[in-house]
Amino acid sequence: MKSLDEYMVLAEQAHGHMCAGQILGLRMALYGLRLLGVDDPEGLDRKRLVTFVEIDRCATDAIPIVTGCRLGKRALKFRDFGKVAATFCDLKQDRAVRVVAKETSKQRARELYPDITDRNRQQMRAYREMPDDDLFAAQWVQVALGPEEFPGYKGERQVCVECGEGINFKRGVLREGRMLCKACAGERYYTPL
Ligand SMILES: [Zn+2]
Ligand SMILES: [Zn+2]
Repeated sequence: MKSLDEYMVLAEQAHGHMCAGQILGLRMALYGLRLLGVDDPEGLDRKRLVTFVEIDRCATDAIPIVTGCRLGKRALKFRDFGKVAATFCDLKQDRAVRVVAKETSKQRARELYPDITDRNRQQMRAYREMPDDDLFAAQWVQVALGPEEFPGYKGERQVCVECGEGINFKRGVLREGRMLCKACAGERYYTPL
């Protein structure tokens, strides 16, 4: 594993700026991997991890910097729950830990560095130093992952009978014997013009 400082340099490059959320995300991932006993995510443990993230904010950009789990490799899963939380799944040991940022962490940062008036700087400073227990709560969880969820899954491609578009990874919806894509099944997030 690299040091927090080294990860911060990489995170800043990837995210475009350094911020309190980046530090929180890096530390969240470091904590999660430590709890799992994974210490070589870029080498020996490269295909061992899947990470679920629950928010699309700064912290989320920082997590793959540590875990190596990327969306395009199917090892990063986004569940839009609006929470600063992530679940780190160890495929080798078949166990997972969910880490959530504590609501009290901002208040704790204010208490530690009342003289730093800039909130982001105050939190950046505090989040570098605060013990894991002050920043996060962790719980062991079970995550049901079908074979189609894993990186490298090769399965039969489906075709939507409505729009004709191809569907991968069993994301099709069987309705009254007809194979539909999620959009045609009613989950469309866009409106065709
Ligand atoms: Zn940011
Ligand atoms: Zn369709």
